[in-house]
Amino acid sequence: MKTSHIATAAACAACARAQELPMVNSEDLQALINLDELVSGSQQLQDFAYAYPERNRVFGGQGHNDTVNFLAEVLEQTGYYDVTIQPFVELYSGGSSSLSINGQAYNNSLLTYTPDGSANASIVAVNNLGCEAADFPPEVADSIALISRGDCTFAVKSTNAAAAGALGAIIYNNVEGELAGTLGGLGDYVASVGTDLATGEALLAALQNGTELIGELEVDSVLENRTTYNVIAETKGGDHNNVLALGAHTDSVEAGPGINDDGSGTIGILNVAIGLTNFTVTNAVRFCFWSAEEFGLLGSTYYVSQLNETAEELAKVRAYLNFDMIASPNYAYLIYDGDGSAFNLTGPSGSAEIEALFEDYYTSVGKTYNATAFDGRSDYGPFLDVGIASGGIFTGAEVPKTEEGQDIWGGLEDLAYDENYHAVGDNIFNLALDAFWLNTKLIAHGVATYAQSFDSLPQPTSMTKRSAHLAKVKRQAYNGAHGSHGHHHCNSKDEDKTR
Ligand SMILES: [Zn+2]
Repeated sequence: MKTSHIATAAACAACARAQELPMVNSEDLQALINLDELVSGSQQLQDFAYAYPERNRVFGGQGHNDTVNFLAEVLEQTGYYDVTIQPFVELYSGGSSSLSINGQAYNNSLLTYTPDGSANASIVAVNNLGCEAADFPPEVADSIALISRGDCTFAVKSTNAAAAGALGAIIYNNVEGELAGTLGGLGDYVASVGTDLATGEALLAALQNGTELIGELEVDSVLENRTTYNVIAETKGGDHNNVLALGAHTDSVEAGPGINDDGSGTIGILNVAIGLTNFTVTNAVRFCFWSAEEFGLLGSTYYVSQLNETAEELAKVRAYLNFDMIASPNYAYLIYDGDGSAFNLTGPSGSAEIEALFEDYYTSVGKTYNATAFDGRSDYGPFLDVGIASGGIFTGAEVPKTEEGQDIWGGLEDLAYDENYHAVGDNIFNLALDAFWLNTKLIAHGVATYAQSFDSLPQPTSMTKRSAHLAKVKRQAYNGAHGSHGHHHCNSKDEDKTR
């Protein structure tokens, strides 16, 4: 009894203090966003990655677990938030591979979900694109199959190679650049690696000249269930039946520390959360730090599935804002196309108003913006699927900037918005600090606006299951026509990871 008495007294002291705080407003919350804090927060995340040999923050790894604990501790210490660490379990795929041919080492990377394998055998070229069993000549048995990318998924090619008795498969790109892909899940595959177009063409030419190629292929695949964690921090104050949710993902890919993708969104929303503790709010604000986005939006999908178990919990979330990559080095100011005016993928009711809020913000600070497809390829996807008004911004990934883009935002034409996207160079030295600072102030503006009032959003209508389903089908059709399969993130992803 005594402890509960003390707890009650402490809670009331917090209440009294909250009542003395001023109501949040955009200008004052923005004024608390400090560039030094954004940089030191990013440095902290990078230090977590570089403290371990993997030098990344892949979900379930040590660099990622340190990130999760850091966020939970910082938010808990404010005393302003109820912090929940939400565990869930997902299949992790990683590991390493090596390939040498006639004693010479070749560039390669394992395909996600490949099995282990070890082969020291002849390399045999497959006919056509390896999409049919008949494409595999009998000599493929007990050999390493050499297959071009194209037409069908990597999974189909690897399955056909396994069925033909191959010991391994080398799939080479059909366009310039590395081939980094996924088999899309577990299956009856052979040990499979990807390599670049030049390597594939050189090997094919050697075979056609009658040169015998002996390959040594080693694939050390790690396939394991890993427990990982979302961090959810909700203001103690405010109306918990009318909640603004916002989120960023805390995990990186294997290749690097993930400081723009999505350390920038993580540290951006964290700093807004810290600034918000100086104010009181009308509506509760829920800061969501998602895990395992890079393996297919797994953390946000799990969270929404849990929320979706009771209709009341879902109805409490009035809007969701997503921030995935807000400081790309060769940036653009892109807003999710919630009204469907640019990409014809309209979000749930309220999404158009959120897009307009961010448009007005950029206009007010003299910046030009453009739209980016509202295709559900980051953590807002699961929120779209259940009909929650959503929005967000994005500064661009691997797509090259156009001449028009250079005219608008400066930077370099023909260079990717983020040339370090999903690569080792996605580190603190490659952040655009001006975009980082401005976009974090934009987040503060969004939080202040909706923490005060949802009056600018339409009244929530319970989106019918059918209309949510139809919108999802339309997004899937769009994604099918524009590469990638919903899995593997990042809004303007042109490259398809499964084929
Ligand atoms: Zn991302």
